[in-house]
Amino acid sequence: MSDCIFCKIANGEIPSRTVYEDEDFRAFLDMGPAAKGHTLLVPKAHYANLFEMPDALLEKTGRTAKKVAAMLKEKLSAEGFNVVQNNGELAGQTVFHFHVHLIPRYTDDGQKIGWKPGKPTDAELDEVLAKLK
Ligand code: 5GP
Ligand code: ZN
Repeated sequence: MSDCIFCKIANGEIPSRTVYEDEDFRAFLDMGPAAKGHTLLVPKAHYANLFEMPDALLEKTGRTAKKVAAMLKEKLSAEGFNVVQNNGELAGQTVFHFHVHLIPRYTDDGQKIGWKPGKPTDAELDEVLAKLK
């Protein structure tokens, strides 16, 4: 994709603060980090989101995310870790090249990554379950 910023970064056309690279992926520091060491793991090939990713590459994504997260956690002495992956504008995706956020967490980092829990009734939960069966 000629106009995709993450294609350009992943393939080295645009410089980035790369913390890990192999033949399929690049992991680089996010320019707007949620916390120190916030890293984006991206495939070198362009897929817009999770649903477009081939299964084989997704399997590698899981293994690579774990490896890079462990490295970040150890080297930055993180005390916790969030792995976040957004799909679609409504879900907060702003760059439409699949990426995984690897976010080391620290005491007093001031971040709150999460959601407001709902309070569904049993009937509402059962209705959802029925749709999924
Ligand atoms: P999304 O909201 O799509 O899940 O996440 C996009 C992320 O990419 C954001 O956290 C944003 O800070 C980061 N980002 C966007 N453009 C660039 C860029 O050119 N360089 C870097 N290093 N990060 C970027
Ligand atoms: Zn791309």
